[in-house]
Amino acid sequence: MSMTTVSSRPARPSPARPDVAELFAATPSRALAIYAHPDDAEVSCGGTMARWSAAGAEVHVVVCTRGDKGSSDPGIDPAELADRRAGEVAAAGQALGLAGHCLLGYDDGALEDTAAFRQQLVGLVRSLRPDTVVCPDPTAMFFGQHYFNHRDHRIVGTAVLDAVAPAAGNPHYFPEAGPAHQVASVFLSGTLDADVWVDVSDHIDAKAEALACHSSQIGGTGEWLRSAVRQRAEDAGRMAGVRYAEGFRRLLLQA
Ligand SMILES: [Zn+2]
Repeated sequence: MSMTTVSSRPARPSPARPDVAELFAATPSRALAIYAHPDDAEVSCGGTMARWSAAGAEVHVVVCTRGDKGSSDPGIDPAELADRRAGEVAAAGQALGLAGHCLLGYDDGALEDTAAFRQQLVGLVRSLRPDTVVCPDPTAMFFGQHYFNHRDHRIVGTAVLDAVAPAAGNPHYFPEAGPAHQVASVFLSGTLDADVWVDVSDHIDAKAEALACHSSQIGGTGEWLRSAVRQRAEDAGRMAGVRYAEGFRRLLLQA
């Protein structure tokens, strides 16, 4: 995979990790993004999914929960909200050019890192056979003084990592879940230790459009959303020396 090294460095380089920021310019053949809630993938890696899809990659998204608690309105019907959000996932997938998406249908907040859940994830990895998996960084707990990472995000990140390696690649784990498949790399989003960036300058509109599809989560006209998307991608872009970027911690699982 070709890589361009740029001179900007991460704000918090860790001695155990590469000390130069890398701009990841390659396109996987098949990528699988696995996230907890209906809008998580778009928030975390929407620009990257749009870029890879536009470049010919087959990109699939798995949404583990049905988003039934994604409202602070006590009067809202959770089942109706979940139905609405399933439609939003489909619309967002179209905006990003995804090859497909899959809803696992767990209740919000009810995910557990069980063998059954990992087996389900292993089955998805083995049937879709991605070279790259994208998921939340489960080690990112505290973001500043006002936010800590949602339990569902942490559980999904941990379960996906364990499902990818060694489980999916080893035929003795969950043999009933299909033939073994070795994933080559994992991109962890929502990380405090980003070491690769993807230039999404040409795909920031697709990301904003995909996020706007999640109208149950957005108030008003969504203009603030477009500017928030740009602002966040601009901050990451500064690290990578490009206009708009998304940052990841990358694991290379095979040479
Ligand atoms: Zn979420």
